[in-house]
Amino acid sequence: MAAQGGRYFSNLTDHFEKNFAESVGLKAEFVSAFPGSSGPLHHSVLAFTSAKRSYVTADPGYEAGMFAASASGARIVKVPLTKTYAHDVKAMIAAAPDAGMFYICSPNNPTGTLTPHVDIEYLIENKPKGSIVVVDEAYTHFVDTPSAVDLVKAEKDLIVLRTFSKLYGMAGLRCGVAIGKPDLLAKIQNIMGWNAMPTTAVAAATASMADARLIPERRHINAEIRGEMFQWLDQHGYSYIPSEANFFMLNTKQPAKGVIDAMAKRSVRIGRIWPILPTYSRITVGTREEMTMFRDAWQEVMKGAVSAQVGGLAETKPWRALDGIRFRA
Ligand code: PLP
Repeated sequence: MAAQGGRYFSNLTDHFEKNFAESVGLKAEFVSAFPGSSGPLHHSVLAFTSAKRSYVTADPGYEAGMFAASASGARIVKVPLTKTYAHDVKAMIAAAPDAGMFYICSPNNPTGTLTPHVDIEYLIENKPKGSIVVVDEAYTHFVDTPSAVDLVKAEKDLIVLRTFSKLYGMAGLRCGVAIGKPDLLAKIQNIMGWNAMPTTAVAAATASMADARLIPERRHINAEIRGEMFQWLDQHGYSYIPSEANFFMLNTKQPAKGVIDAMAKRSVRIGRIWPILPTYSRITVGTREEMTMFRDAWQEVMKGAVSAQVGGLAETKPWRALDGIRFRA
């Protein structure tokens, strides 16, 4: 396919969109391919928010949409997750009668936690008139829970985003899709302009979809390594937010920045930090070998931290505010 990259190859994309649409029980015009899901996310924000129509998202949540909202001049409304780390859809509606777009990420980046389908339905049924819901399902392949695509089938006002960058391991090849009613997709396309897909990405995504074992196999590998990690953390008394995805938030029990730096000195890169959870760092679930390296480095850093804090580290206020939340450890 790389050798054929000298030409536009739009029938390959048409075939991919039709194929993808069939796989989720929709007609081809409900699916639009993009080079990754960042483009349709950014352009949805530009299409549906403005100085008069706010952008509503979770805190902590995936930040990209907020950057786009700064470009559209929209008010950015950040609503804390519930105690079970779901999107607080009732609070989101209450916080933004002027909403243009509600962004739901499930599993959520960075917590890896799910927002129940009923809550997404509630949001769609009760959102302010003229607003839309964008459900980012970048990490949905890691879980076996219902997608919001059935709500697109019911022709509701939402766009579902999917990507081949995560479980499919194609981040550099760039393939994603937006799923929605044709009139909503047209609003994104009009802003983005003509959007030719990389032929290599479309070919790789088509081949990946044809392999029925790929999702269950990779989901299983990730869940197994993540489960081993959580077991180890439990045994050693470290607390974390139970995640369904290929990353999780781990409690550093001190400002996370120092821990991230100390881990980097041991060649283990972790992070980043979300301001609402300043004593947490997001850890990516890697291979078994990588997680062994992580564990060794983490123990060293934590032991160093404990001996350096004789008399106890003063906990920050946000950490105390989280005391009521259920942790496994
Ligand atoms: N959505 C979420 C929640 C993400 O975490 C990411 C990447 O980190 C993206 C979308 C964008 O990914 P891509 O543009 O590679 O599809």
